[in-house]
Amino acid sequence: MAVTGLRIGVVGGSIAGCAMAIAGARAGADVTVHERSDGALQDRGFGIVIPPPLHRELVTAGYLGADMPTTPVATRVWLARAPGRRSARELARQQAPVAPCNWGLLWRALHSNIGGGAYHRGRPVDSVGRTSSGGALIRTADGEREYDIVVGADGHRSVTRELIAPGVRPAPAGYLVWRGTIPADALRDHPEQLDLLETAWVTLGFPGGHGVFYLIPGAEPGSRLLAYAIYASAPAPAGSDGQVSAGYVRHIAEEHFPVEWADVVARGEHTSQALHPVADFVVPRAAEPPFLLAGDAASVTRPHTASGAVKALQDALCLERSLRASSSAAGALRRYADERSAEGARLVALGRRLGRALVEHTPDWPAMGPAEVDALSRAALDGADSYLYGSVQRE
Ligand SMILES: Cc1cc2nc3c(=O)[nH]c(=O)nc-3n(C[C@H](O)[C@H](O)[C@H](O)COP(=O)(O)OP(=O)(O)OC[C@H]3O[C@@H](n4cnc5c(N)ncnc54)[C@H](O)[C@@H]3O)c2cc1C
Repeated sequence: MAVTGLRIGVVGGSIAGCAMAIAGARAGADVTVHERSDGALQDRGFGIVIPPPLHRELVTAGYLGADMPTTPVATRVWLARAPGRRSARELARQQAPVAPCNWGLLWRALHSNIGGGAYHRGRPVDSVGRTSSGGALIRTADGEREYDIVVGADGHRSVTRELIAPGVRPAPAGYLVWRGTIPADALRDHPEQLDLLETAWVTLGFPGGHGVFYLIPGAEPGSRLLAYAIYASAPAPAGSDGQVSAGYVRHIAEEHFPVEWADVVARGEHTSQALHPVADFVVPRAAEPPFLLAGDAASVTRPHTASGAVKALQDALCLERSLRASSSAAGALRRYADERSAEGARLVALGRRLGRALVEHTPDWPAMGPAEVDALSRAALDGADSYLYGSVQRE
């Protein structure tokens, strides 16, 4: 019998927070979201890739509207600079369908489906705590509120995690990722690259790292952006900020990329950009009644898995299933923890293997062909599932 009529408080109103709010409301709970920022979260606007079957499931279930734009492609193409030349060489092609989204449009689509749930902006949660009767408390500058369940969807520095898994801290990978977008107009003079990106997402290997490129919908209807994530084991430039990191990405492109790709990255205007030190962690258990962790609050995997938002969305689907299948809030949270704790640990381990193979010990990319790329992929997967390596897993 499903547990209904619960009061659920959600700390954080980003991807995980909005998705968890929808899940709770769909399962009959009264949900309140407390989000620290009072600005529009869509300003973060980067690329997010999700598996097409998850996208379809979220649309069918009503988490996302069918009108949220994506730029689906079915193929992954691996490139590097041709030996001794400045042009690109295709190393391999794999069938790996993805549905790239714009982070801001994804957030907006989720936020618009929260429905009757309350979403309070500009309300940082100072702390969470327990009541004497087994309930949960959220404390803000406005006072205390009591809930049956508190969802920590407050990202990698979660205050909720501090209560149920104190001491879990991110482990640095020792390398960096630059993430950004460039207007697709930058591809105007590069029709071959544009044609490729219409049907494929691209992994571009270079000594000491690699870049990932794909088109995403822009904020303006019909517009598109070229999204990228560039991983490099080179040390961070001193005093890294937006400007310095834009310069460094251009430097890497000019130094290591095939000339056509260097042109796009080095000359194009970067509309959004961020530098992240790569790190990961996972909590031993994703829920301890009456608290539950979702998204980055529960675990952060290295971004090579393209699974942080994916996991947050799957966390929400799991919460809804758990609430519908349990006769108590505590039972639902135990069911959730049994399923989601293992997934967080699996993704962290996979992210580490991919990071080692693709950044820490970069192969001699130009010397590789389809067989070598498949062997590298299979070795890094080590039997794990990843939608980014579709056809490799089926062989
Ligand atoms: C380079 C890179 C590429 C990536 N690519 C992909 C990809 O392709 N696919 C994918 O699935 N994932 C990807 N990810 C991961 C993905 O971006 C994150 O996992 C996801 O956005 C996390 O969402 P979240 O809601 O859990 O956390 P966040 O987005 O960090 O949200 C946490 C929210 O909580 C709020 N908050 C924090 N503290 C408080 C408080 N005390 N009170 C109230 N509110 C609070 C914050 O303001 C924020 O809005 C990538 C990550 C990186 C770095």
